[in-house]
Amino acid sequence: MDLKDYIRTVPDFPEPGILFRDITTLLHQPQALRYTIDSLAEQTGSLGADYVVGIESRGFMFGTPLALKLGCGFVPVRKPGKLPAAVFKEEYTLEYGKNALEIHQDAFVVPGRVLVVDDLLATGGTAAAAAQLVERAGGTVVGFGFIIELTFLNGRAKLPEGPSAVALVSY
Ligand code: 5GP
Repeated sequence: MDLKDYIRTVPDFPEPGILFRDITTLLHQPQALRYTIDSLAEQTGSLGADYVVGIESRGFMFGTPLALKLGCGFVPVRKPGKLPAAVFKEEYTLEYGKNALEIHQDAFVVPGRVLVVDDLLATGGTAAAAAQLVERAGGTVVGFGFIIELTFLNGRAKLPEGPSAVALVSY
């Protein structure tokens, strides 16, 4: 199956000149959604993760079913002000401006190996900030999983060096 057949490209979103890769067209096709989760599980299972960390919000859509499939717990990394208990916060630069992410300070009840999941790797700022949060909360990042990588933005260069990074399709 070629996942690109299920990813819609929307020109000029969220700003003129940006080609947005839209995964809602993949989510609503059950066979494509299953193939996506199965493929991510195949390529990350050997990392032996204890937790999947999903980045709000599209990272939740793929991270939660992946955690179920891998037998991992799921931990959300969220936009500021959404998590109710004490948090760590990281500010970062993203493709379209500045932002911040938060994680619960006690997210990892038992410290463990963490797989960070998001729908798309662009400049890498979002995933790198999530990895910082994981480490501050006492987790160890062992890998990153993405559906899509925009290779021309070289986001991999921003990720920490040790953990592996898997992307199912690239543009
Ligand atoms: P980065 O921090 O790597 O530059 O940006 C990645 C973040 O922006 C991810 O959380 C991703 O969801 C979002 N993002 C940026 N561009 C796109 C895009 O074209 N399609 C989708 N689905 N998400 C994008």
